[in-house]
Amino acid sequence: MKKTLYLKLIIAYLIFGVFGLIVVVTFMQQMTENRLRQNKAEELYRVATVLSEEDALRLYKNETSLASVKERLDSYARMLDARLQILNPSGLVVVDSAFPVDVDNPSTVEGFDMTMLNGSFFSVGNFYGQFKEDWLSVAAPVTMGYAVRGYVLVHYRASALRSTTNHLLDIDYILLLVLFLLSLIILIFFTELIYMPLRRIIHATEEYAAGNLRYPMPVESDDEIGYLAASLAYMAQELAKGEDNQKHIVANVSHDFRSPLTSINGYLTAMQDGTIPPEQYPKYLDIVLNETDRLIKLTNNLLTLNNLNTQGMILEKSVFDINAVIRRVVSTFEGSCREKRIAMELSLTGENLPVKADLTRIQQVLYNLIDNAIKFSHHNSVIKLETREKYSKVFVSVKDSGIGIPKESVPLVFNRFYKSDISRGKDKKGTGLGLSITKEIIRAHGENINVISTEGVGTEFIFSLPLADESAE
Ligand code: ATP
Ligand code: MG
Repeated sequence: MKKTLYLKLIIAYLIFGVFGLIVVVTFMQQMTENRLRQNKAEELYRVATVLSEEDALRLYKNETSLASVKERLDSYARMLDARLQILNPSGLVVVDSAFPVDVDNPSTVEGFDMTMLNGSFFSVGNFYGQFKEDWLSVAAPVTMGYAVRGYVLVHYRASALRSTTNHLLDIDYILLLVLFLLSLIILIFFTELIYMPLRRIIHATEEYAAGNLRYPMPVESDDEIGYLAASLAYMAQELAKGEDNQKHIVANVSHDFRSPLTSINGYLTAMQDGTIPPEQYPKYLDIVLNETDRLIKLTNNLLTLNNLNTQGMILEKSVFDINAVIRRVVSTFEGSCREKRIAMELSLTGENLPVKADLTRIQQVLYNLIDNAIKFSHHNSVIKLETREKYSKVFVSVKDSGIGIPKESVPLVFNRFYKSDISRGKDKKGTGLGLSITKEIIRAHGENINVISTEGVGTEFIFSLPLADESAE
């Protein structure tokens, strides 16, 4: 793509120049010549008329002498740089500005016939063979009592006319050249405002394509080009972010897989080489099993998250009673609650609270939230579960009075692999993926999840679900 745009513009520019020249040379020349000829003819005709109505008429009436008429014709001929004649209708030359009067031996214009002019008051040619080159001739009749007695003719050299035309055309050519040069300004504008920025943008995209996503976009302007550049820069920035994210996730996954694998490997090696005696096997097998549990959970969570992302999550929505689901999920935690002597307090609105959502996914959400609440609660504490109906939505809250989340960590808890420092000691098995899965599910429903937490006091997660319109079901 290198130089084609520029080349195309140059070609367009040259075409413009060439066509301009052709137009000026053909049309302008024709038009100018016609116009000048017409003007000259009119001017000569006026002179011819004056002479025919005054001098020629008086001559025919014998009121003036041939010599004085000849003098008048001569002076007009000099003034107009023309040749003037008075002819009889038969073609007999009465007076001619080019020759002295010769009464005894008058010359004749052979074939002279004014009807041949066909209504036009001028003609261009050799005028019945009188001239060797082309002349512009006009004729004004001399009339006496309705009869044409003769003609006053004024001839003007066509070549003189042409040289005037050429002179005027020279001005046109100069103007055209000036215009052509001025239009170079467009070329300069194009180069500076479009071509150069485009090249810079292309260079930047090449850098991006080569993987250098942090290459600074060298174009900043307030027009469409600037917008294009900004969009590309934004795209590169987002790609870079995605790349960072990807690296971060891979690093986290590797780390989370490595630690349990290292400990499993360590214990099994110790068993094999006898460092751990057989009577202690049960204890260490328990630890190994725990670690494998954690690996299975991590793998499952990663798979869930991946599916949520790639398919944009396909929800199987149905109408179900959220209160009943909460009771069922809570019952699965009876064992761990008993262990930590934690009491679950349910304050559920209504007998039956129907929502329209994906049952399995919402079960998972509840499971993740209650699991966290128990994990991060102190012994002998209370966890409150509440459902409320508001604005045709159902709000579900899971509230504990556990360790809480440090203020600076609150915005991060929904991030993948995020675990707050204070929680690490309490929960070694956590993958840090539970809440990000939860958030993805709620968001797929077009709903929201929020967290309110105070370190050392407790945490509350509230999410919304659409209330099912029972009458519609
Ligand atoms: P997993 O859910 O895979 O077992 P996890 O519980 O550590 O791992 P998340 O559920 O995503 O991961 O929670 C992320 C972090 O948010 C937790 O590690 C913890 O630091 C904090 N957190 C979540 N819920 C609570 C809570 N109820 N009280 C205090 N901290 C919490
Ligand atoms: Mg969790």
